[in-house]
Amino acid sequence: MGWRIFFSLLFIIVVIGLLVFYWFIPTRTTEFIPRGPINSNFSLSNSVAIDMQFYPNMRYPSRIITYKIYNCSLQKKNDMERAFEILSNKTILKFNPAENEEISVTCDNKVKMEEGLFIAGEGGPTKIVQTDLFNVILKGKVLLIRDSSCPNPNIAIHELLHALGFDHSENKNNIMYPVSKCEQTIGDDTIALINELYKTPTYPDLSFENVSAVLNGRYLKAEISVKNDGLIVSKEGKIFIYADDDLENTFDLKPLDIGAGLKMTLENVWISRRNPEKLKFVIDYDFEELDKNNNEIILEVSH
Ligand SMILES: [Zn+2]
Repeated sequence: MGWRIFFSLLFIIVVIGLLVFYWFIPTRTTEFIPRGPINSNFSLSNSVAIDMQFYPNMRYPSRIITYKIYNCSLQKKNDMERAFEILSNKTILKFNPAENEEISVTCDNKVKMEEGLFIAGEGGPTKIVQTDLFNVILKGKVLLIRDSSCPNPNIAIHELLHALGFDHSENKNNIMYPVSKCEQTIGDDTIALINELYKTPTYPDLSFENVSAVLNGRYLKAEISVKNDGLIVSKEGKIFIYADDDLENTFDLKPLDIGAGLKMTLENVWISRRNPEKLKFVIDYDFEELDKNNNEIILEVSH
């Protein structure tokens, strides 16, 4: 009688032990690899003269660009404000005065010479972040040296276009020609490129850069890198992990700056689905993005 109870108990313990083993102890290691290439299928449609700018696709994050004018004579300040007005009338850009500005305008009365020529001014982007789509200009500057004697503020427009990323033109009638003349005008191609570049709205764009995953029995180890190739810092989001079609786990995704990436290593993530054929990682982002189609990646068992 005592033996029967002993063997029954032993049998139950062994069964429970096996179940625990079955559920929790890694039995086999499965490696998952991405199905197809990881990349964004969003691209810019423009094929307009790429060499018009210092780098391809240079733009500020928003079509509303802020500026501040420091210590300039009344005439130069006036020239600069007219330059902003002329460009905002010809394009979809808007320029607003603000503190903590994007374009800083300064002035200098000292005569500057370079290669035997009087320098009228200087301008250009001073802080650029590279993303998949754009060279995003975070800061730019304009320095006005010579007073403009033309009916139009050509020097201020020329330097402002430099600050917007535009390089010199070889066309003597173009306002971007290195030597200033009153009859020079803004090229139609310049205006077209500005309107094309700023057509893209100021949204973030989150996507997976790389994902690798190994399933050790029921435990997932994954390396995930997420980046923001958009034009503004992203808000908080989430990452969902699916095994086949079951939602297994959720992680918080911190805000990412323009051009910034984040690498996460997940270890010992319990997967309840037994021997899944595929894993799916999804960026769950409730706000607008440049592209929603690059928010998910599917990994399959590598055979
Ligand atoms: Zn120039």
